[in-house]
Amino acid sequence: MTTGTTTLAEALAQARGRLAEAGLPDAAIEARLLIGGLLGLSGTEVFTGGDRVLRGDEQARITNAVERRLKREPVHRILGSREFHGMDLLLSKETLEPRPDTEILVDSLLPHVRRIVAAKGAARLLDLGTGTGAIILALLKESPEATGIGSDISEDALRTAAGNAARTGLAERFEAIRSDWFENISGRFDIIVSNPPYIRSDVIPSLEPEVRDFDPPAALDGGPDGLSPYRAIAAGAGDFLEKDGVIGVEIGFDQKEAVTAIFRSAGFEPVQAARDYGGNDRVLVFTVKEP
Ligand code: GLN
Repeated sequence: MTTGTTTLAEALAQARGRLAEAGLPDAAIEARLLIGGLLGLSGTEVFTGGDRVLRGDEQARITNAVERRLKREPVHRILGSREFHGMDLLLSKETLEPRPDTEILVDSLLPHVRRIVAAKGAARLLDLGTGTGAIILALLKESPEATGIGSDISEDALRTAAGNAARTGLAERFEAIRSDWFENISGRFDIIVSNPPYIRSDVIPSLEPEVRDFDPPAALDGGPDGLSPYRAIAAGAGDFLEKDGVIGVEIGFDQKEAVTAIFRSAGFEPVQAARDYGGNDRVLVFTVKEP
């Protein structure tokens, strides 16, 4: 390997400059994340290792990554993985990049998983449209007595979810199943969870390029009114949810009333709602309506 002439500090400054020049607001943070991630350095090592002279191949990888970021590819997609609920999860072409707000869905359901485990000694979980597996793997990680299925219509997503289950040591309690919502699912579950696509089709073109051009359209597009997946989930869930189970969904910021109405008319009642870090409605939890 050739030794280059650029130090880590110089590479960071150049990357930050190029990202800032392109108008990216978090240029300094992103330059550190990108270069630290590419070189396998911790945040501290990036700060303290400024004098390190980079090899030629390292410089080339950094240049390539900065070019990709300038085309608005998100930092974690370039790096190929991202942190979610304390796990480092692989991303792939057909998986939505897990968002910090989705951790609130996980945390809203954990008390229910614990309640069920306390009562039954086990809990069965189903994550519809699992993508990277982020939600269900976080729930399984926190609940050693639970087992679960992550379903998806995308084979690419299922491969990624299975890889993430292996990577987090959860493979024995996780199964990936190809299914269009409930189509290939059987049995009953204590917890059903989903972060379905919920963006209105006509809004997609106006999303930030990081989302519009790099998150998979099938994981974003919720149909003409953004609610189609909720209708499918609410219509099917009655046959798959245990009597004392709950169903938790992530929703768009303006969908609380509409999604609640969809679940009510399918025989469920709301038990919990949570807002995201920006103060927007983001999570709804339902149970089967008492007769
Ligand atoms: N929360 C994502 C966004 O804001 C959308 C995810 C989804 O449709 N489930 O882009």
